[in-house]
Amino acid sequence: ATPAALVAGTGAAAKAGILIRDIEALERAHAVDVVVFDKTGTLTEGHPAVTDIVGLGTDGVEMLRLAASVQAASEHPLARAFLAAAELRRLPLARAEGFRSFTGRGVGATVDGRRVVIGNEAFMAEEGVDLRLLAREKTRLEGAAKTVVAVARDGEALGLVALADPVRAEAAEAVAALKARGIETRMLTGDAEPVARSVATKLGLDGFEGPVRPEQKSVRVEAYRRGGRIVAMVGDGVNDAPALAAADVGIAIGTGADVALETAGVTLMRPDPRLVPASIEIARATWAKIR
Ligand code: ADP
Ligand code: MG
Repeated sequence: ATPAALVAGTGAAAKAGILIRDIEALERAHAVDVVVFDKTGTLTEGHPAVTDIVGLGTDGVEMLRLAASVQAASEHPLARAFLAAAELRRLPLARAEGFRSFTGRGVGATVDGRRVVIGNEAFMAEEGVDLRLLAREKTRLEGAAKTVVAVARDGEALGLVALADPVRAEAAEAVAALKARGIETRMLTGDAEPVARSVATKLGLDGFEGPVRPEQKSVRVEAYRRGGRIVAMVGDGVNDAPALAAADVGIAIGTGADVALETAGVTLMRPDPRLVPASIEIARATWAKIR
């Protein structure tokens, strides 16, 4: 090995906002065959906003107030969107008791003595909530690439809330740069299939899977590695840490959770997906000199 070339390479990377942990990370990064992206916060801005409120025989505003009262205890990006929407309408939040979060599915708590739950279709099915009367609206909103969650009280559907999380401006360019280097691009997300499909199509990704439960993401990464393919996983969330660890190269977005940073061989100092092809480019150039 030529330490001078390594120092120069990692120095150039750091200047571009890319931290490469060690020579092992550099070696694996130069040989990447597949890049797998998380969606929320990685390919999208990660700051969803409420766009539609559909009340089912009840006042949508009261539904939003109840939902936001529960979401006040959640740290999920979707929860913050509920709070912003309630604040915008100056809705006084109620006290929520016994809050619980169901990872990748939703949240629940007791408000005014009644159980309020918010989450995706799978979660509502587990809670015994019938969404059939909302099916048409749900399909319409998902067709517009929105994340749709339902709100229910004491097992009865109150309505739907749709949220939009814009795709990052630089994401399509990042995907194109990877493909130009012969690298396969994929996305894993906990979000619904229509939303995943819409983002994948917009960005020209080679493939996507969604909805994937958080604990299944690392299993999927292992599957992509079969046949000796070198896989990089890019993510930011607490939920992404096991998938980053399962990849040959974990690439963490530096604004993300500390656990994601700890498991990553590469850390990006800015949430710019173009730094992913840039990392691989620098690793390739540096590795060529070391060898
Ligand atoms: P991603 O893989 O896109 O980061 P998550 O695994 O965090 O998504 O969440 C998957 C899905 O679970 C969300 O799209 C949503 O339907 C539901 N969900 C998770 N947390 C919440 C919450 N606090 N409120 C409502 N729905 C939620
Ligand atoms: Mg995420």
